[in-house]
Amino acid sequence: VTPVRNPPTVATRRKTRKIHCGKVDVGGDAPISVQSMTTTLTANINATLQQIAQLTAAGCDIVRVAVPSQDDADALAAIAAKSQLPVVADIHFNPKYVFAAIEAGCAGVRVNPGNIKAFDDRIADIAKAATEHGTGLRIGINAGSLDKRLAGMYAKDPAGALVASALNEAKLFEDVGFRDFAISVKHHDPVIMVQAYRRLSEVCDYPLHLGVTEAGPAFQGTIKSATAFGALLAEGIGDTIRVSLSADPVQEVKVGVKILEAFNLRPRQFEIVSCPSCGRAQVDVYSLAEQVTEGLKDMTVPIRVAVMGCVVNGPGEAREADLGVASGNGKGQIIVKGKVIKTVPEDEIVATLIEEANRIAADFPDE
Ligand code: SF4
Repeated sequence: VTPVRNPPTVATRRKTRKIHCGKVDVGGDAPISVQSMTTTLTANINATLQQIAQLTAAGCDIVRVAVPSQDDADALAAIAAKSQLPVVADIHFNPKYVFAAIEAGCAGVRVNPGNIKAFDDRIADIAKAATEHGTGLRIGINAGSLDKRLAGMYAKDPAGALVASALNEAKLFEDVGFRDFAISVKHHDPVIMVQAYRRLSEVCDYPLHLGVTEAGPAFQGTIKSATAFGALLAEGIGDTIRVSLSADPVQEVKVGVKILEAFNLRPRQFEIVSCPSCGRAQVDVYSLAEQVTEGLKDMTVPIRVAVMGCVVNGPGEAREADLGVASGNGKGQIIVKGKVIKTVPEDEIVATLIEEANRIAADFPDE
């Protein structure tokens, strides 16, 4: 059996306008990108660049940095010049940092109209500066900082209020001839978030940046983000994603990458297929799966390794994978490309799988 690689995904992407975020396109036919945000003090240029390097290695496409002070704004030019990833400046409260970020050469600026006083009066100037510098914008609407004028609507229809706020701001930019922006309408509740993005996608063709905001610690936040993004991506909605976790941003990127890989929206890398174990298991499946995952965590070649606890599904799953083990009686049958190549004692299964995986990877044709 030849495993199917990257079969069609679950939905046709909804057609959106394409905008540029430095070297990364967002929307249109551009691949769905993964974003994250640094947690360092932006003014600490070295620490910020170091974290950006870690995010790059994890598969991040676009990075956002917070700009709460003049010191942070002053650091933007150096960060934008040295970052491997396009840098988006995240601006709340003070409109002067929007102009500073554009002039510093940031690839994008996220503005939160609900948090910038008299934002609407500055739109023509912001649009002019962004156009002159080729800077993409994101109108980032958040439930927690919604325009006060929409409070009444929000109480009755939170998703509707998020959409109304986004469209109001979009209209102001459109009125001055500026359309190079993405939109986000984030909410901490995945149900409201999904409703808001669905409704927004029906009435505009701007690229959509998906996010469940304040999604929580890693376990809860991963589930909230994966379910909400999954619902939307399955309808073709979403051009760039940010998983928000109360955890290391590298973790956010890894989760975002895996969500896209799960739907074949990004080519799959190393993948482990392992059974949940049950009363039939004749080896410690959890430990085997964990050790193999750890041993192959740096594998960049898209191979699939099956770790199965017994012979019920073991040989079948192992045959569908590039490499696998079907365990039983304290031994493991090592199966490569559908053929049993050897049988090893249980304590040699992990080392043998890692060795064989590396051998297959070395022979893997370059893309
Ligand atoms: Fe149980 Fe075997 Fe299935 Fe694993 S492969 S869940 S041990 S029946």
